[in-house]
Amino acid sequence: MKKYDIAIIGGGVLGNTISYWLSNLYDLKICVIDKEHDVAIHASTRNSGVIHYPFYLNSKLKKNFARAAFLSHGMWKVLAAEKKIPWVQGGTIEIALDESQHKILEKYMIWGKENGLTEEEISILDHNQVKQKEPNVDCYSGLYCTKEGSTNYGLLTHAVKELSENNGVDFLDVPDSYYDDLENRVGKIDEDMKMLKKLKILVDKDDDGYLLQLFTKPIEDRPTLFIEIIQRKGSKGFGQGNFQALFEAIEYEQGKRGNL
Ligand SMILES: Cc1cc2nc3c(=O)[nH]c(=O)nc-3n(C[C@H](O)[C@H](O)[C@H](O)COP(=O)(O)OP(=O)(O)OC[C@H]3O[C@@H](n4cnc5c(N)ncnc54)[C@H](O)[C@@H]3O)c2cc1C
Repeated sequence: MKKYDIAIIGGGVLGNTISYWLSNLYDLKICVIDKEHDVAIHASTRNSGVIHYPFYLNSKLKKNFARAAFLSHGMWKVLAAEKKIPWVQGGTIEIALDESQHKILEKYMIWGKENGLTEEEISILDHNQVKQKEPNVDCYSGLYCTKEGSTNYGLLTHAVKELSENNGVDFLDVPDSYYDDLENRVGKIDEDMKMLKKLKILVDKDDDGYLLQLFTKPIEDRPTLFIEIIQRKGSKGFGQGNFQALFEAIEYEQGKRGNL
């Protein structure tokens, strides 16, 4: 059986970056397991894409975290430039709707400076100053951070995956053995098992019937938009049973490889 020192469950931006740093710093056998056919299918491609600066992190209680966020901002930017991933250095405004929220922004100002931002990089805007920058925003005040940038986390996650693979990390997805036990799990179905296996279509069942499930690859050049296709044969679910089945299939596949 192929053995790993560390198995990371989940190939989002976190799982990928953890695999990268571990494989970069230590001589370990690492795998990343995801239930999808690719990395970064979920939150890591569906977020707003802002690479934050740590003004929102308590400069004493979260000192190390804030330092890491401060330093890694530049590293993301370099990686984006190297891989030609879009990066917009537009700045952000965190808004307050009333006096009590404004107090939080004042706290952020202090933390931001203690965490390394300068007077030019972070400032509090009043109602009118926010309106000048963003005419459609009506608020009490805003915290303007010129350093924040916006990018595509999905593409960055794929770039990190490549780096991890170069370091020897394995990425595991739907193995063929998922289909070996399929009939025992879901019972008789109308479709040809061989075709399902070839097309990597997943099957799940519940009390009402079964369903076929497939995730397309991204349908545009950015991996932010893809389609989940579900064909229901009675089932009203969303493929919950596939979590356990995929996990067991991956374990089985590893065991089989070790016996060869
Ligand atoms: C609307 C929105 C906007 C956001 N905007 C920003 C922003 O602007 N800036 C920012 O820094 N952050 C933002 N975030 C937060 C950021 O997107 C998340 O913190 C980050 O993507 C989390 O990464 P992750 O790897 O933990 O999760 P995910 O990207 O969700 O990855 C988790 C992975 O685990 C896999 N998985 C789950 N269960 C299993 C299982 N049982 N077996 C195998 N695999 C499994 C999933 O398939 C998935 O690929 C936003 C979040 C949302 C929802």
